[in-house]
Amino acid sequence: MPGDLCRPDVIRRILAEHGFRFDKRKGQNFLTASWVPGRMAALFSKGQAVLEIGPGFGALTAALAGACGHVAAVEKDRRLIPILRQNLSGFDNVTLTEGDALRLDLPSLLPEGFSPAVCANLPYSVTTPLLTRLVGQGRFDPIVVMVQREVARRLAANPSTPEYGAITVFTALHADCSILFDVGPDCFMPRPAVTSSVIRLDRLPPDPARECLVPRALRIVKAAFAARRKTLLNALSAGLSLPKEAAAERLTAAGCDPSARGETLSPAQYLTLARTFTDIITG
Ligand code: SAM
Repeated sequence: MPGDLCRPDVIRRILAEHGFRFDKRKGQNFLTASWVPGRMAALFSKGQAVLEIGPGFGALTAALAGACGHVAAVEKDRRLIPILRQNLSGFDNVTLTEGDALRLDLPSLLPEGFSPAVCANLPYSVTTPLLTRLVGQGRFDPIVVMVQREVARRLAANPSTPEYGAITVFTALHADCSILFDVGPDCFMPRPAVTSSVIRLDRLPPDPARECLVPRALRIVKAAFAARRKTLLNALSAGLSLPKEAAAERLTAAGCDPSARGETLSPAQYLTLARTFTDIITG
């Protein structure tokens, strides 16, 4: 074992030994504060198999391996694979896959017999597409990830606030989001410009009635937030190519003011709209 993978002197030794340089485009800011992986890993137990995206040098992977039944780590940077093999050689419950988490079949990387979950310090550059993919697959529960604080606030935002957007509603239609704790720039090497937050997404209980409305609700959300400044009536009739009269009628039937803006509607109201618009939009 190479020692505490969060210790700056250990990180510097690995960097020198392997001639490794951080790649900013891959969001490589590695943790240097061991309380962070410790706190994240403490949320898991032996009955869970955890997918980790972007293990870096393996600091969070090692903490997770001690807490969970299995860890499947996916790393895009080929240079990190031999380093990870060396750093994680003491664990027999870790599998390592080289590849892009945006393209791989992620659920298939976890072994049967465990409850599938996600824990990761996500690369900033691809946080939104990765989260959309993980949440939308509806397979992982919980998803515990570190993201930029600004992204965390958007995901957990309330209606009628500047942070509330299509990604908030998308997330809320699949999971309950809570912000667990902040992690300052001093906890990373190299030091990022912004503060990060660890968030937890707990999948909503199965509900076939809600689930069949979600695709249509998301089409409505997309149209409503594509024209954030427009009234709901104008945004939906333009974005979904609907006659205004039919759209107004259904907005009113759903209890929504046609002259309100999309950002004032809660996720539950978008589900209600999906129901009242059933006959005029597919989804
Ligand atoms: N887990 C380590 C830690 O906390 O110290 C490193 C986290 S670092 C913020 C993000 C990691 O994600 C890097 O190792 C980077 O190479 C990797 N990465 C970036 N894009 C990726 C992708 N599309 N798929 C898988 N890994 C990716």
